[in-house]
Amino acid sequence: MTLFSLINQEKNLALLHNIIRNKRVGNAYLFYGPEGSGMEGFALEFAAMLNCHSETDYPCGNCSSCRKMRCLEHGNLELVFPIPRRQDSSADSDPFKGFTSADMEEIQGIIHNKARNPYEKISIPNAKHIPINFIRETKRKTYLRPQELGWKVVIIFDAHLMTEPAANALLKILEEPPKKSTFILTSSNMNAILPTIISRCQPIHFPTLAPTVLKDFLLTKNVPENNINLIMRLSGGNVNQALRLAESDLQKINDTTLDILRAIAVWNIEKVYKYVEKLTSLYREDSAQFNQILLSVTFWFRDAIVLKENSDESELIHSELATEIKKFANAFPNFDPYSASSSVENCIDFISRNVYINLALLNMFFNLYHALNTGKNPL
Ligand SMILES: [Zn+2]
Repeated sequence: MTLFSLINQEKNLALLHNIIRNKRVGNAYLFYGPEGSGMEGFALEFAAMLNCHSETDYPCGNCSSCRKMRCLEHGNLELVFPIPRRQDSSADSDPFKGFTSADMEEIQGIIHNKARNPYEKISIPNAKHIPINFIRETKRKTYLRPQELGWKVVIIFDAHLMTEPAANALLKILEEPPKKSTFILTSSNMNAILPTIISRCQPIHFPTLAPTVLKDFLLTKNVPENNINLIMRLSGGNVNQALRLAESDLQKINDTTLDILRAIAVWNIEKVYKYVEKLTSLYREDSAQFNQILLSVTFWFRDAIVLKENSDESELIHSELATEIKKFANAFPNFDPYSASSSVENCIDFISRNVYINLALLNMFFNLYHALNTGKNPL
């Protein structure tokens, strides 16, 4: 059992147990892997293991240390994460100078969410970097005498977002941390971390969760079984995204997918333009959701192929929309699912290469209409 609500990664959990059992705690670790693989949660778990009062069964969950760790309010735990930049901040100022009490309350709330769901990012609005003053302040605290027995653990989330001066300010303490203190950096983007930082850390890789493991986890969260295939495909194995989809976004994505397809099918030009505009602004505001909607459209066509080939309905990704997909397939007997899928994929590719988003979308809608009505002209 883990103190935080974490899934699998048994190999890494055994590795962390071994480190403590053998009393060979390193100066610094780099937990890396794709977003949503649990590396941040396991960093918290390791901090709890290092400080638990139980000799054999750590983290026990019952001692005073575990209780404080569970709500991330332990004197030995320092969390560092990207914060928004304030105009008047200098390298030595308090990193939270200029934050209002409402800002600080919001940050506290976000940290409490992290304690409840370790897959949730500590994502503060407008935070793009970890500035040098946050690193300096954390170093200062690390050199203070520990408030409690055990290990001081500094966790730097999204370590690739440290500014270069911030990363440089960290080098020396990573090499020679004060006694009984250790650093854990987490990152989904190793390429953006200075080699001088990487070389000072012991790397531990957190792979994407296996689909069967994610599926079992979602079932324990009471996610309806006929949504699970779609959630797994849309989330790409990212536990946090899968949970977000299960909680709120899935219905919206399904409704939008259906509505877009209806607009294209009858070539409702007003609606087509409305979706070009809507999706263009969605791309700027929430590119993850934008991608999920386009993916959802491609899954629809992929499902149409499955039905066309009379394959098993249980193989559908949009299994909850099976009736609509069947109706759709009957209404468009000449429908070319292969060219439909490739026009969406081309659109995603164009956008990633900075082609005008609205033009790429309009082009995609036009090609989709053609794929539905082979031989007809919408204009
Ligand atoms: Zn304990």
